[in-house]
Amino acid sequence: MKEIIMVKYGEIILKGLNRPVFENILVKNIKNALKNIDNISVRKAQATIYIEAENENKIDLLVERLAKVFGIVSIARAAVVEKDMETIKQAALSYCSYRLDAGIRFKVEAKRADKGFALKSPEICTEVGGYLLENNPKLIVDVHNPDTVVKVEIRDFGAYIYCEEDKRAGQGGMPIGTGSRATLLLSGGIDSPVAGHMIAKRGVEIDAVNFFSYPYTSERAKEKVVELAQIIAQYTSKINLHIVPFTDIQLEIRDKCPEEHMTLIMRRFMMRIAEKIAAKNKSLALVTGESVGQVASQTMAALNVTNAVVDMPVLRPLIGMDKEEIIARAREIGTFETSILPYEDCCTVFTPKHPTTNPKISSIEKSESVLDVDALVDEAMQSIETMVVYPQADF
Ligand code: ATP
Ligand code: MG
Repeated sequence: MKEIIMVKYGEIILKGLNRPVFENILVKNIKNALKNIDNISVRKAQATIYIEAENENKIDLLVERLAKVFGIVSIARAAVVEKDMETIKQAALSYCSYRLDAGIRFKVEAKRADKGFALKSPEICTEVGGYLLENNPKLIVDVHNPDTVVKVEIRDFGAYIYCEEDKRAGQGGMPIGTGSRATLLLSGGIDSPVAGHMIAKRGVEIDAVNFFSYPYTSERAKEKVVELAQIIAQYTSKINLHIVPFTDIQLEIRDKCPEEHMTLIMRRFMMRIAEKIAAKNKSLALVTGESVGQVASQTMAALNVTNAVVDMPVLRPLIGMDKEEIIARAREIGTFETSILPYEDCCTVFTPKHPTTNPKISSIEKSESVLDVDALVDEAMQSIETMVVYPQADF
C-alpha cells in the first residue's frame, strides 16, 4: 500500500478563467519547495495536487515543507490503492487502524470524483463502515459526533484513504508569483518579518531591505537579519536581501538635526532609499512593520511624516494589530526566537530621549533642510550589498 500526500487549495479555485494560471504557479512553487528531495512526483487533477516520493521515509519532510507553501489549504497523507471495493475495505482497516481503538466513535465519508465507479458514495460508506465494524465490533458508528472520520475518495487514478483528523491545515493565502512584487523594510525586530510574511501570503514576491549601521551595530546584528530572511525564505523559496550602509546618514542627522526629530528624519531616509531599491527591482509597493501608536514614530502624525517622502503605496499589514497579536504571529511563523536575540538594531543606537510624537511635516522638513538629502541617498545607493538568501539547509 503506497502512501502519498494530497494537497487541496481553496481561494484560487475562485479565480474563474485565471484558475489554470494560479494552479500552475502553485504546482511550480510546490516543486520548487521540494526540489532538493530526490524522486518526487507532483501531479494535479480534479482540484487536488498529488505528491509522491519514491522514498516514503521522506513523507514527514514533504509535509513540513508543504505546510509552508502559500495557496495550500490542507495537506493529507493518504493511502492510495486500486479502485476495487475489497482492496479499499482492507486498506481502510489497516491504514486507519491506529485511530480505530475499541470504543472509538467513527463514521466513513466517501467522495466519488470518478463518476464511472460502480458504487455511489452512500454505498461506499456502508460497505467500508460495515467492514470496519465486522473486524472491530467494539467500534461505535456515530455520524453526528464521531471521534474519527475515515475518508474514502474515489478519483481518476485510484482510491485514496485517510483519517480526517490527520489532515493538516496549510498556510492558505495565494501562491507566490500571482501578486507582483513588494519591497519589505526588514529590521531585526519582531514586527517587520511578520509584515513580510503577511504580504507574501497574498501571493506577493518580496525583496527585503535592511539598514545597517556598522560599527554601531555588530556583524552579529547583520547575521540576525540574514537569519530572519532565511526563515521568511522557507515560505517564499528565496529572498533578495539588500543591505544598505546607514551609518553616514545617521551621523549626519545626529550632528546636524534636532535630537527630537532624529528618528523621523532617519525613517524618511529609509523610505526614500527603499523606494529607489523598490523601483529598481520592479516592486509596486513598500512594506513596513508599523502599527498605529506602537512607538513615537508610529503615531498617525508620525506615519504621515514618513509617508510624505515616497510616492509608492506603503503596505502596513500590522497597522491595526496589538503587539501581543503580532508576537503570536511571529511565534507561529517561526521568526520570534530570532527576533528577540539581543543584538541592537540601527535605531536603538540612535534613539532620542524625547522623540516628538505629534510632528508637523513642515517642521521636520525644516530640520531636514540642513542636509544634502539627494547626495546622502545617492551615496547610500552606491554601496548596497545584495545577497540572495535561501532557507537553511536543514529545513
Ligand atoms: P520592527 O519590530 O519591525 O523592528 P519596530 O516596532 O521596532 O518594528 P520601528 O523601529 O519604528 O518599529 O520601525 C518601523 C518599521 O521601519 C519596521 O517595522 C521596519 O519595517 C522599518 N525599519 C526599522 N528599522 C529598520 C532597519 N534597520 N532596516 C530596515 N527596516 C527598518
Ligand atoms: Mg525595530
